[in-house]
Amino acid sequence: MGCATALALSERGAGEIVVLERAVPGAEASSAAAGILGAQLEAREAAEAELFRRARDGYRAWAERLRDETGIDVGYKRCGALDVAFDEIAAGALRERVAAQARAGLAAEVLDGRAARAVEPELSERAVLAAHFPDEAQVDPPALLRALVAAVARRPRVTVRSGVTVRGLAIEADRCVGVRLDGGDLRADATVLAAGSWSSLVPGVPRALPEVRPIRGQLVQLDERPPRVRAILFGDHGYVVPRGDGRVVCGSTMEDVGFRREVTAAGLASILAKALALVPSLGDAQVGPAWSSFRPHASAPLVGASPLPGLFLATGHHRNGILLARETGERVAEALLHS
Ligand SMILES: Cc1cc2nc3c(=O)[nH]c(=O)nc-3n(C[C@H](O)[C@H](O)[C@H](O)COP(=O)(O)OP(=O)(O)OC[C@H]3O[C@@H](n4cnc5c(N)ncnc54)[C@H](O)[C@@H]3O)c2cc1C
Repeated sequence: MGCATALALSERGAGEIVVLERAVPGAEASSAAAGILGAQLEAREAAEAELFRRARDGYRAWAERLRDETGIDVGYKRCGALDVAFDEIAAGALRERVAAQARAGLAAEVLDGRAARAVEPELSERAVLAAHFPDEAQVDPPALLRALVAAVARRPRVTVRSGVTVRGLAIEADRCVGVRLDGGDLRADATVLAAGSWSSLVPGVPRALPEVRPIRGQLVQLDERPPRVRAILFGDHGYVVPRGDGRVVCGSTMEDVGFRREVTAAGLASILAKALALVPSLGDAQVGPAWSSFRPHASAPLVGASPLPGLFLATGHHRNGILLARETGERVAEALLHS
């Protein structure tokens, strides 16, 4: 969120911009994500659906621009997605969602098990029905973050400072005038809070803001040779994201355990059980790396102006921060430059 906002601000001709990161940009949730641009998989309300669709559909052009500017391919693919039901109760809910999305003009269809397996031949024989969303897409988050940081660092009048911890907001006369760093304040006309799951822990952040809490998610990568799975598959709160080159990212857990970073035996057992229920042939895949990170959960994403003059917000995106990165950067830049 910090880099996407810096890029959008720079493109609008903002003055000096400094991105402050205590580790390296992308060290936390953003590089750890599965990279699903799941506008239709994730949206639950009409207003959300329109925002998510716009965010997803704007990604191809953003990915191309980032590649042209940096030479880094962010792995954008419109691979489509199947949300899979294994029983009649789940099937009924999927039918309703597809009908609502089709009414809203989104590409969505209900497929029986056989038709779903024609779209994704590796899908389990046990699938009774699937919602097919052909426009859903993915990116490869570590590549996205490398490209984003490179694009930001190349812009004129933008500095990326790694290894710098923000100790608090600098507040004078009820206005945010910058941040407190070891060794002194960094003053700014405007400050953007983009500290992910740590946003509520930055001293000086207004108490009136909804709390941002970490929700741990674990992921494991499988390597199938040769690559077989083609579509993103969702089902029974698990998912499988094929990168197209044999890597298949399987997720995930949703755990309210504070900032504990463990990848746990129970977490992996549940992720692998759901992945194999979707794609039994993954049982032969080589197990690759497993990792975890923290989704910044708030009651809703916090984007734009805050109750504290001089402070703007780009945080709280929970499960959809990769999807919403570009849109958020644009919205925060607009709010900041027109304040
Ligand atoms: C397992 C998992 C799977 C996910 N899958 C998807 C997905 O498929 N699609 C999707 O759209 N989203 C997904 N997400 C969600 C997405 O990753 C997040 O919503 C998004 O990355 C949040 O971005 P952010 O910039 O707010 O937070 P982060 O990427 O966590 O960045 C916050 C940064 O702030 C820095 N920081 C914190 N405090 C300070 C301080 N005091 N001083 C200096 N720096 C500080 C941190 O070091 C960190 O680098 C997933 C998340 C997880 C955990």
